[in-house]
Amino acid sequence: MKPAVFTPQEPIERWVARVVRDDIRRLQPYSVAESSGMIKLDAMENPHELPPALRAQLGEIASAAPLNRYPDPAAVALKAALRAYMQVPDAMEIVLGNGSDEIIQLLALGCARPGGTMLGVEPSFSMYPLIARVCGLQFVGVPLCADFSLDADAMVAAIERHRPALVFLAYPNNPTGNLFDAAAIEHIVRAAPGLVVIDEAYHPFAQVSFMARLQEFPNLVLMRTLSKLGLAGLRLGLLIANPAWTVQFDKLRLPYNVNVLSQAVATRVLQSAHVLAAQAAAIRAERSRLAARLQGMAGVQVYPSQANFLLLRVAAAAATYDSLKASGILVRNLAGGHPALADCLRVTVGTTAENDAFLASLAASLRLSSHA
Ligand code: PMP
Repeated sequence: MKPAVFTPQEPIERWVARVVRDDIRRLQPYSVAESSGMIKLDAMENPHELPPALRAQLGEIASAAPLNRYPDPAAVALKAALRAYMQVPDAMEIVLGNGSDEIIQLLALGCARPGGTMLGVEPSFSMYPLIARVCGLQFVGVPLCADFSLDADAMVAAIERHRPALVFLAYPNNPTGNLFDAAAIEHIVRAAPGLVVIDEAYHPFAQVSFMARLQEFPNLVLMRTLSKLGLAGLRLGLLIANPAWTVQFDKLRLPYNVNVLSQAVATRVLQSAHVLAAQAAAIRAERSRLAARLQGMAGVQVYPSQANFLLLRVAAAAATYDSLKASGILVRNLAGGHPALADCLRVTVGTTAENDAFLASLAASLRLSSHA
């Protein structure tokens, strides 16, 4: 017998429009450029591989992992390794996310009362406003000063006006790369009626933290990630906060959000802290070299960075981006986004060879455009 074929009464696009939320249908997806075969300097990844002996051990760990079983929902071993590695104060608890993107989502979901607000700065990480809106929060972005420092007075005024449930500050900030003034942050934490989230995704390259100060402020919580440290593929981010907060957000976490392989592999890698420290130090050294070389290039303005990327302003970002791409180098073109980023590119610090290739292509592209 032939199976009955279901013939819909209306075109599928109309069904979608009737069923899926209007704001979701209008949303622009988070775009990731195609990168196969390219020198990838667009996503703040660590360009270094782990040493072969460690990789061999990880292979054994992966092959012994019980893939037929659900992961440990409490991730006891991984949390203990993270606690030791990141010097998490004993009084604080950890919530694990499938990347820190997921932590942003848990925080927003948990705090999204009708009419509620998330406050951030502009320009900053694009996922804050995206996740805020999807979770039903209004997003208010307070402009940074012209040098990308925090406008503490404007922040406090916005806090008083909007009474945000959440304030997000990336420390250092993405995509500007700078660290905000710690005293200005403290001022904001004291003024905020809700949670203040300090997102320390780039901590390995800035080496300053609010971790030891968590106990001072009841409404301060921290986010970290293993992505920039060299484990972006594992997808592991964390919230570090007083247990009074984590007990609430942990209820929103899907029970098995961190898989068996990520738990086992990350636990082992964190025990090789010296490997991660050496790679972060190499990236910091390359950041200084790259910044110095860029400062010496006519037509390039480079901003100070405490992260593993540099923000640049050139005369024609779109043309420069295209020309770098044509020579096999992928950076992030920020032009067309926030007005403060007009003609800006963001380049992740790569290996010495990758950075040299980038510098040579950039110089060639700028020479061409100055003759045009
Ligand atoms: N926070 C900031 C400031 C970021 O720049 C990023 C990644 N670009 C993230 C969080 C998310 O990182 P992940 O989800 O890989 O942990």
